[in-house]
Amino acid sequence: MIQAELFAHGVAAHGLAVSNPASGAVIATVRSWSAAEVEALVPVVDMAGRAWTARTAKDRAVILRRWFDLMLAHKDALAAICTAECGKPLAESAGEVVYAAGFIEWYAEEGKRIYGEITPTFAPDKRVLTLTQGIGTTAAITPWNFPIAMITRKVGPALAAGCPMILKPAEATPLCALALEYLALQAGLPENLFRVVPTNDPVGVGKLLCSHPVIRKLSFTGSTAVGKLLLEQCAGTVKRTSMELGGNAPFIVFDDADLDKAIDGIMVAKFRNAGQTCVCANRILVQDGIYDAFLARFVRRVAALRLGDGADPETQIGPLIDRRAVAKVRSLIDGAVAEGASLATGGVSHPAGENFVAPTILTGVTPDMDIARSEIFGPVASVIRFATEAEAVAIANDTPYGLAAYIYASGMARIWRVMEQLEYGIIGVNEGVISTEVAPFGGMKESGLGREGSRHGITDYLELKYVLLGGIAA
Ligand code: ADP
Repeated sequence: MIQAELFAHGVAAHGLAVSNPASGAVIATVRSWSAAEVEALVPVVDMAGRAWTARTAKDRAVILRRWFDLMLAHKDALAAICTAECGKPLAESAGEVVYAAGFIEWYAEEGKRIYGEITPTFAPDKRVLTLTQGIGTTAAITPWNFPIAMITRKVGPALAAGCPMILKPAEATPLCALALEYLALQAGLPENLFRVVPTNDPVGVGKLLCSHPVIRKLSFTGSTAVGKLLLEQCAGTVKRTSMELGGNAPFIVFDDADLDKAIDGIMVAKFRNAGQTCVCANRILVQDGIYDAFLARFVRRVAALRLGDGADPETQIGPLIDRRAVAKVRSLIDGAVAEGASLATGGVSHPAGENFVAPTILTGVTPDMDIARSEIFGPVASVIRFATEAEAVAIANDTPYGLAAYIYASGMARIWRVMEQLEYGIIGVNEGVISTEVAPFGGMKESGLGREGSRHGITDYLELKYVLLGGIAA
């Protein structure tokens, strides 16, 4: 019963058409919200939030926990929706559901542990208190590449802290967001605390969410260019912002790396979700001494990857999200070849369909090439050769981005030195998959502001209120 409703929630005769990137076929049409309709929704959500804040943290936790349970109970259905609208292989979609649910579970627990402080006083007749309170009504704008997890890591801490949320999902992937909203209601979340507003007017709705004075915080995951625009728009109401933006992750393989581990690591760090994640390895830096052995193994593994519709259980690499994404990746490959890089495997098109790009390795890439300076967001590995540790660190840090970096090495001294010098918010040491709800995820420099996940992820939804209590003297 729930299964059918999960697919049907929010579906409408007219509005925003959702298509399957593997086939191009339209799979559903959902209601598209106008900016005026979202404006009318804000006071309704704000009112619901007032009642929610007044409840105990434990009350809120019980409902969040039920939402977590329901997500896991409907893992296969959510995964099928995710693959249908965003293209990733089913196994990755199922993994995303578990990862996404983890944020709801984590913040159900963490919401009970938001503490205040009493500071030793500066005067005998006064007491210094610090209260932590929810920030108020919040908004979020999320991308299509993790259409479930990028939502739960925002709405989990918001609701746990007592804050309601209006969520604008990406145009390509509203179905996962609507399914989450449906399950939240089934879990007993009161109405209007979490409202999903798909729209084919992201600019207009985005402006409204950024400028509305009742909304006290905006959390965004997406490109750095759009993040900068939203920051400007939020300045007018001095809104609190969290920004998870683009990356240009270096994946550094030193001579003393365990080759098997490095190859396994790069396969997931590069090719997960067909390379469409902000923590995907973007520049693969390989030291002289291990270069030939690494490249030979890497090429063999990449050439054997199976491309296809993500719904086929055999598929390892699905399509890119749309034709625009394919054109961008293709132009980066062509540009790199024109600048002197060589194709070690792959190329551009693939018979599976027009949204597919064959997994590709480019060698002879240099740090100044466009492909080394841009976020590729596709199944294309660009390999840069280096000689010394200092050179690797300099190349790695020579970017305005600072989200994730990976190091493969065995010497502890080198691992410590390099890890400390890298200007990145997340570092994988001999690990290619770093995402988990228990750790703080976020970037330095132009990769973002704030952290999501862990005990730190809830602080962005909290205000500190200092109270000076006077007249205590006897
Ligand atoms: P991507 O290139 O990965 O699609 P974007 O940053 O363009 O990344 O999109 C991420 C999210 O930002 C999506 O939900 C999209 O609708 C939204 N978005 C894009 N442009 C704007 C804008 N001008 N105002 C508000 N939201 C926007």
